Amino acid sequence: MSQNNELLACYKVLSLLETASDNTETMLDNMPGVVVVVNQNLRVIRANQEFAKLSGCNMEDVLGFEFTSLFSPENTDILRRQFALLKNGGQPNKRIDFELEITPPGKKKSARQFFWQATLVGLKKSAEGDLISISGKDLSELYQSEMKLKNIFANLPLGMLMIDSEGKIKEVLSQFSEVLFDRHELVGVTFSSLIEAAENSQDKLIIEGLTHLDSCFGQTKNHYDSIEKFFPKRIAIADSHTTQTKWLSINYQPILKVNKIDGFILLIEDVTETEHAKKEIERVSVLERQILTVYEAAIRDPLSGLYTRLFMKDSVKSLIGNFHRDSIEELAVLMMDIDHFKSINDTYGHKVGDSVISEIGRIILKRVRETDIAIRYGGEEFLIILPSNMSHMTSARIVAERIREDVANYRLKLASGDEIAITISGGAASCGKGENIDLVIERADNYLYQAKRTGRNRIVVEGDV
Ligand code: GH3
Ligand code: MG
Ligand code: MG
Repeated sequence: MSQNNELLACYKVLSLLETASDNTETMLDNMPGVVVVVNQNLRVIRANQEFAKLSGCNMEDVLGFEFTSLFSPENTDILRRQFALLKNGGQPNKRIDFELEITPPGKKKSARQFFWQATLVGLKKSAEGDLISISGKDLSELYQSEMKLKNIFANLPLGMLMIDSEGKIKEVLSQFSEVLFDRHELVGVTFSSLIEAAENSQDKLIIEGLTHLDSCFGQTKNHYDSIEKFFPKRIAIADSHTTQTKWLSINYQPILKVNKIDGFILLIEDVTETEHAKKEIERVSVLERQILTVYEAAIRDPLSGLYTRLFMKDSVKSLIGNFHRDSIEELAVLMMDIDHFKSINDTYGHKVGDSVISEIGRIILKRVRETDIAIRYGGEEFLIILPSNMSHMTSARIVAERIREDVANYRLKLASGDEIAITISGGAASCGKGENIDLVIERADNYLYQAKRTGRNRIVVEGDV
């Protein structure tokens, strides 16, 4: 690898530390280095401290310093040729990059390789003629910082690869990359082929993403921004050690050269655990939804929308538990039964009978509170359990009467134009502390029987008789 390539690699690694790729240039400016502006005679008209140090001058004496005196006669020739190239065509802001060794005055032995960037900043506008702004970086210092960074990266549990403008892996920046892909020879391999070997490489999005990735070299940053969303961000590969699927997340850091995409640095993370956790959560929630649906189907009677008797066992148990623990003061049990339902069936048919049950279920649901439990207890019998903090049986009577009235006022309209009037009767009993609920239900049933016997379309509450 040539020095220039290594230097570029170093910039790229540095740029990784800042996430945005555009920062590369800014980062270069902030890096310790030489900055100097020279006139057409290559004499210094502005310079920074670093340059003064390099030239062995004070800041005051640096003006007028001959820039070429930093170089050997042969290198001075090269330098002049470079600058001639820069002025050729005379476009302002034109920039050239080159490497050239300096031999600072008085320190002949310590020749140092520098990387130079020279920009044409003026076109005979100033008295000085064409101005050239030059920045220089001591490559040996950069190599050191590059090595330091590489050492840090090498030990991170993070894959880091550099992809060149042909889409090939140019450099493995962290050893962990090899662990992630379970391969030793990564350099020279195209990144696409690495992904194509992945488990989910047939995925349409991955195929599309790879096409976009391959097409983006040499394109502008704007183009990159518009297609970046298609790049494969998450791939699954088979883990040969565990036979499990390993999930990798890929982050792309573009490397820009003269504003064009020249390569990428990839940060690759093993996200298998997160992916498994996510899948597990999804699986559990699907399972939970299924269980809920099955449970809901088991506890909800589809015809009336009320709870089934199956649900009663669970819900009543916990309600009674609360009641015995004193958190509920009163507990009333209301049993209701449709009047002369048999004749509705006989006259209009079972289907119409079903509609009646369904309508009564709707009325009951409208009249009970959330804390009440309304159950379709038998074919056309309804059991409502009403926890209350009101005085004895008052709330049970109110609820029962409202249901009775609503049913009595309701008319079921038939396709024939006929309207059916329905009535319902009810009996309510109070559950004493510590009392067996089955016995209370039996008593409520007796009061219902009394209501039937005494004319129907009425409610009998314990204590009325
Ligand atoms: P009463 O006023 O004394 O309650 O008279 P009734 O005719 O309603 O008598 P009973 O309560 O004994 O009648 C129950 C009838 O309800 C018998 C059965 O055919 C009918 N039935 C029970 N479940 C269903 C159902 O799901 N759909 C329909 N359409 N009818 C049902
Ligand atoms: Mg009945
Ligand atoms: Mg009945």
